Amino acid sequence: MKLRIGIGHDLHPLAEGRPFLLAGVRLPFAKGELGHSDGDVLAHAVADALLGAAALGDIGELFPPADPAWKDADSMDLLRNVWERVRSGGWDLVNLDCVVICEGPKILPHREEIRRALAAALDVETGAVFVKGKTAEALGPLGEGLAVGADAVCLLEKI
Ligand code: MG
Repeated sequence: MKLRIGIGHDLHPLAEGRPFLLAGVRLPFAKGELGHSDGDVLAHAVADALLGAAALGDIGELFPPADPAWKDADSMDLLRNVWERVRSGGWDLVNLDCVVICEGPKILPHREEIRRALAAALDVETGAVFVKGKTAEALGPLGEGLAVGADAVCLLEKI
């Protein structure tokens, strides 16, 4: 059995008047991610983990921020696009584990919806996807509520 592990990381500044999106799920909050796309930090971290595991590039390379085609792009469309590329390379997703780091909003009340959204985009059971929230203990830009970060780790199996 051939296995590959991948890691993804992303961080976006938070600004008023933007939706706070995690895997396409909108969490009620006064601020949201600033970005060329919709800024969905979790979708970006997951996409990079999948691409890294399959050695197929990274999202900055495949969807350049300078390209107007990706202005205000739905990051879940990018994620589905990435998963098509990875799956076409002959890979199945064994599991995905993620951390979202922010002072607010609380992730736990939305965790199941976020897990279901990721599982649907990647066509796996919800049990293969986990997400947890962490604060930065009021330290640094994440702790001061100026940004939101996400980390993702995935395991792929060759079909
Ligand atoms: Mg990003």
